[in-house]
Amino acid sequence: MTVNGSDAREVWKKCLAIIKKETNVQTFKTWFEPISAVSLNGNELMVLVPSKFHYEWIESHFVNVLRKSITQTLGASSVLKYQISRDEEELAAEPTEMPVAEIRTPAKPAQELPVKLQFGSTRPVSEEPVTSNLNEKYTFDTFIKGDSNQLARAAAFAVAENPGSNSFNPLFIYGGVGLGKTHLIQAIGNRVAKSGKVKNILYVSSERFTVDFVNSIQHNKVSDFSAYYRNVDLLMVDDIQFFSGKEKTQEEFFHIFNTLHQTGKQIVLTSDRPPKDMKFFEERLLSRFQWGLAADIQPPDLETRIAILNHKAAQQNFLLESEVVEFIAMNVTHNVRQLEGCLVKLMAQSSLTGAHINLGMAREALRDIIKPSKINLSIESIQRIISEYFGISQDLLIDGTRKQEIVRARQIAMYMAKEFTQSSLKTIGNHFGKRDHSTVIHACESVKNQAETNEKYKKTLDDIRRKIDMSM
Ligand code: ADP
Ligand code: MG
Repeated sequence: MTVNGSDAREVWKKCLAIIKKETNVQTFKTWFEPISAVSLNGNELMVLVPSKFHYEWIESHFVNVLRKSITQTLGASSVLKYQISRDEEELAAEPTEMPVAEIRTPAKPAQELPVKLQFGSTRPVSEEPVTSNLNEKYTFDTFIKGDSNQLARAAAFAVAENPGSNSFNPLFIYGGVGLGKTHLIQAIGNRVAKSGKVKNILYVSSERFTVDFVNSIQHNKVSDFSAYYRNVDLLMVDDIQFFSGKEKTQEEFFHIFNTLHQTGKQIVLTSDRPPKDMKFFEERLLSRFQWGLAADIQPPDLETRIAILNHKAAQQNFLLESEVVEFIAMNVTHNVRQLEGCLVKLMAQSSLTGAHINLGMAREALRDIIKPSKINLSIESIQRIISEYFGISQDLLIDGTRKQEIVRARQIAMYMAKEFTQSSLKTIGNHFGKRDHSTVIHACESVKNQAETNEKYKKTLDDIRRKIDMSM
């Protein structure tokens, strides 16, 4: 017996309440809010997901929490079935079943499971593809994956597999300087160019777009300009924040955007901030930026920084001791371009002197990038700065009560200790009343999550970071 939609909605609402408790706000909004309930048949709940990619992502990343929510709501033998939204072209004709009883717990934590992204098939290339402004060195192969860029990378990859026919149109990638936005958007272009899936591929910086547009006005060639862009199948515009305040350019872009979007052409944009924080932009343009998916790139964590350095060194056949790699990765935390800068400097040093670079030489060579005092910053000095900042005693901070403000300060202190010192999680835990390393991990994640969702909290962190920086 199939029960009507309102019961299904009730059940799904209960599931969502459980899921909400287990995931952070961003994850919940991106992956669970767009899902709706379709029907309830006994203990089988059918839900509608926006795309195949969406389904694959939640299935590979959130299977445990989904199982928990459905078994708690409908009992142990309940089944969750997926239906993929009809406007996805290549959707499987049959709904995909996911019998809850049969879900096996993955050996690895769910977060680390690879995303199964297999869309469409590659068509043979019949003609030379028209590509513009692509730099071949920026590919997915050379882009190192990490928690900090997971969503943006996976979405970029999905777009490259199926330009135009995916739910990420436009794909809007945002993040700070030197974190790989240009690399990722170029990787889309290069991959699509290689596959030959679409012909006219164009990458432009927003400055280039603006200058060309202004020139076209001066030379009475606006219609040529416009026709040129409307002919593109995959348009990538980098650093769109520079359109800020340029009304005419925005208007032209708005029309190009609409034409491309309506004809199923793919648009990918990057910016240094999310759409909601873009000032001096027309509302109608901002709202379009949010039609698809806005995915951010965060600064990479330590492991990813190490992987990036190792990868780049290997690319250049440059041998680096792990000690040196770690030294750089520990100290250059917020910009991948700067990580590369350190490598280049060391390579130059090594080729000039013919010497093998050891830690001492690296410290010396990178003095202007990595301040020597930063290396010696201790966990104790971070504790001192943070207890002063929050006006609590250092003893309380280290090993005091579970009062909320104190826990909050302690978590921030652990987080900063991880960011600013070379200490292991275990050592950091030891400095906080012999707490376990998993407590430190939990603290760091909690701080990260709060910083992502709470502007005020993020400001506090930045404030503290400045204080620590100044103390060095
Ligand atoms: P953005 O456009 O965000 O300012 P870029 O894409 O120009 O940053 O990246 C700066 C440099 O760092 C580039 O050389 C890029 O190849 C490199 N880079 C950034 N992120 C990664 C990554 N995850 N893996 C490999 N290289 C990266
Ligand atoms: Mg860039």
